Amino acid sequence: MRFDLHTHSNISDGTTSPSEIAELAVEIGLEGFALTDHDTVEGWSEGRAAAKFHGLQFLPGIELTTNELGRSVHLLAYGTKEDDGRIQEELQLLRDGRFARAEEMVFRLSRDFELDWESVLNLSGNALSIGRPHLADALVSAGYFADRSEAFEKVLAPGGPYYLPTVYLGTADAIEMVRSAGGFAVLAHPAAFRMRRPIDKNLIAFLTEAGLGGIELRHPENKPLWIPELEAVAADLGLLVTGASDYHGDGKPNRLGQETSDAYVFERIRNSVATPE
Ligand code: AMP
Ligand code: ZN
Ligand code: FE
Ligand code: FE
Repeated sequence: MRFDLHTHSNISDGTTSPSEIAELAVEIGLEGFALTDHDTVEGWSEGRAAAKFHGLQFLPGIELTTNELGRSVHLLAYGTKEDDGRIQEELQLLRDGRFARAEEMVFRLSRDFELDWESVLNLSGNALSIGRPHLADALVSAGYFADRSEAFEKVLAPGGPYYLPTVYLGTADAIEMVRSAGGFAVLAHPAAFRMRRPIDKNLIAFLTEAGLGGIELRHPENKPLWIPELEAVAADLGLLVTGASDYHGDGKPNRLGQETSDAYVFERIRNSVATPE
């Protein structure tokens, strides 16, 4: 009984549709999955219908890019009310901010690469939430790099001359918003190897006070060396420990089902949210 609780479709920056994720989930023998596109709930209805068609469990989610005390923190928000006015308004602001940021990054890139905003928009297809992966696609398609990963490493990483942060919510504010909308908040990939150090325990304790419910300790990009200490923090704070792949289709090496959660974890989240399926 395995559940993959973190996936992206082409409605944000994955390369497969919600239905294709459901098909693949059946093929590899998952019991269910959560769709957690960046800053949008637009894929939920397709994901829900495809899951039902294939006899899978479905949990609706969103991944939010947030920041607290200068640290970038990704938050998985599960099961929020679909028509919650405040969430809808914030998501729209975040998506608009992503658009402006991507256009400004294209402007910066266009000093050194033959790249234009039109081609980025064309390549982004159905996506309602634009991110660096779409800029990477345009650079790949123009022949500069072999794949998204190479484009990220060579030109799109934070600290590079073209990088700009996205518009973000404060992490504690975002958790409060998710909880008010009947959702369950999980700290995503808190030990991702690209960070200089893992999210520290004082910040996790502060976020738990704010209503954080879980922590994604099983994630392909978490650095194993950093996990034991976070396990202890999670146990201490009573956080639910989740596992998931962060699948992005062909856009990233992460494979669907690469890390998973068991039925107990899935049910714990499902039983506590306003939109359980
Ligand atoms: P953004 O939110 O626009 O800053 O872009 C970050 C997104 O790009 C996240 O969803 C990451 O999973 C994805 N990403 C980060 N690094 C890579 C990489 N090396 N290859 C492909 N996608 C990546
Ligand atoms: Zn993504
Ligand atoms: Fe993330
Ligand atoms: Fe993600």
